[in-house]
Amino acid sequence: MRVGIGYDSHPFAAGRKLILGGVEIPHPKGLAGHSDADAVAHAVTDAILGAAGLGDIGRMFPNDDPQWKNASSIELLNKAFLKVAEAGFQLVHADVTVIIEKPKLAPHLDAMEERLAGALLVGSGHVSVKAKTNEGMGWIGRGEGVAVMAVATLQEPGSAT
Ligand code: MG
Repeated sequence: MRVGIGYDSHPFAAGRKLILGGVEIPHPKGLAGHSDADAVAHAVTDAILGAAGLGDIGRMFPNDDPQWKNASSIELLNKAFLKVAEAGFQLVHADVTVIIEKPKLAPHLDAMEERLAGALLVGSGHVSVKAKTNEGMGWIGRGEGVAVMAVATLQEPGSAT
């Protein structure tokens, strides 16, 4: 087994869609970024790349490369996972915590798990997404942005299933 960790954060910005885990969430503001700024997909991408020893999202999809401008991050996650799979790894499980003051993500967590699992070529039972607030503290508490932590477990090439 190999375990990888991922972290990402993005600031809120007016005039952007809020996309988390590949799901568009109704909210007056979205997240700023070169791609669609899906911090959940970005953190999971780093977790799987870390577990496979394949670098990180910034090295695979440089943010000064125009081909990734406004890219769908759930598609980038799928592209990254295909590299991980090419190296012989299988996803065992991914676990995600989103730290966000508003909006409430509870109604969207199942859809996020489905979308992430689709990109990772597993059933949704292999992906867990949780959300919590920062209890009003600091930049997350003031609603300035979102932070995401992710852990991915991969089965190494050649290990018994
Ligand atoms: Mg990011």
